[in-house]
Amino acid sequence: MAAAERKRRLLCCRTEETKMTDILSLTPDELKQELSLLGLPAYRAKQVSEWLKRGVRDFSDMTNLPKELRETLCTQFSLAAPRLLRSQHSALDGTGKFLWGLSDENCVETVLMRYRYGNSVCISSQVGCRQGCAFCASTLGGLVRSLTSGEMLDEVLFTELENDVKISNVVLMGIGEPLDNLDNVLRFLHLVSHPEGRNLSLRHITVSTCGKPDGIRRLAEEKLPITLSVSLHAPDDETRSKIMPSNCGIELLTEACQQYFHSTGRRLSFEYAMIDKVNDSDDQAVMLARLANRLGAHVNLIPLNYVAERGLKPSPASVIRHFQEMLEQRKVNVTVRRSLGGDIDASCGQLRRRHLKSDLQHVRTS
Ligand code: SAH
Repeated sequence: MAAAERKRRLLCCRTEETKMTDILSLTPDELKQELSLLGLPAYRAKQVSEWLKRGVRDFSDMTNLPKELRETLCTQFSLAAPRLLRSQHSALDGTGKFLWGLSDENCVETVLMRYRYGNSVCISSQVGCRQGCAFCASTLGGLVRSLTSGEMLDEVLFTELENDVKISNVVLMGIGEPLDNLDNVLRFLHLVSHPEGRNLSLRHITVSTCGKPDGIRRLAEEKLPITLSVSLHAPDDETRSKIMPSNCGIELLTEACQQYFHSTGRRLSFEYAMIDKVNDSDDQAVMLARLANRLGAHVNLIPLNYVAERGLKPSPASVIRHFQEMLEQRKVNVTVRRSLGGDIDASCGQLRRRHLKSDLQHVRTS
């Protein structure tokens, strides 16, 4: 790789405050190269990455490295473990929710879902979110910052270590908008699927977006065999703009989705949270069916999770059933998503929100 290109790529791995290189965001090749600049042979990089894969986050614990080298690594690279601040476990279905404290004062949440076919983890891609969706708790305090690829990787690894489980599926459907942090998300996808890294199949990874046409086109160019899930939530611009202020127009979004399908051959899915008297009419079912058929997209209907601050109500079960039937009659591939972790602040952003609020109350009362 040319020196300038290498430098540009590595810039994504510099931590703002320290200007040190974030070792967790380096690919195996980059790590080898960085260590060779320090005059170290390739086997040292292998030793370091073995420790990192085991969740060791302190260079001084890498006991098969000479002490002097451990001290050098401390001065060259930043490295921090996520701290588990809170966890919740559903008595209903074993779903676990984890709030991780990051190397600064920020926190994000991760959800572990246990299915018959394997364990799935839902990870955050940003601290907060700037998309402003009317039904979502993640966006209430706005965007604080984007996560690094290493931080996303650690959500997967530390959820595995904390629960002593192996994860087979990853969904980027937690806090944040992945396409608003696309460079780091692409780097994360590379790291998590690397044969010398976590070696997880890209076919078992889903990226969920509120629908940013430019980001969808860029992702399409990468031709990755991931699943793209578009949070549609309304089939007409009037309703969609009301509940999703980032709506850029359904026609533009559909064209980007078509391009995605053509260049990757991967069928998309639409997420559709059913909101009482907002997006659950017969007319909207007909419009949604037309869009889904145009793209061959799968539709996931989700009963809205009630978020106290948002005041929107889920559609009644009978309305959801009728809406589903209308889609099926029009030959749409549709599922109603089983709601997991209903007893543990299941919706994305709720646990972090509760944590921030309780901190605020603590400050107010103390
Ligand atoms: N920004 C990305 C990913 C994060 S949100 C996106 O928009 O897709 C993950 C999913 O949860 C999205 O489909 C989002 O619309 C949905 N969601 C957010 N709040 C919800 C709620 N209260 N009830 C049901 N689904 C919700």
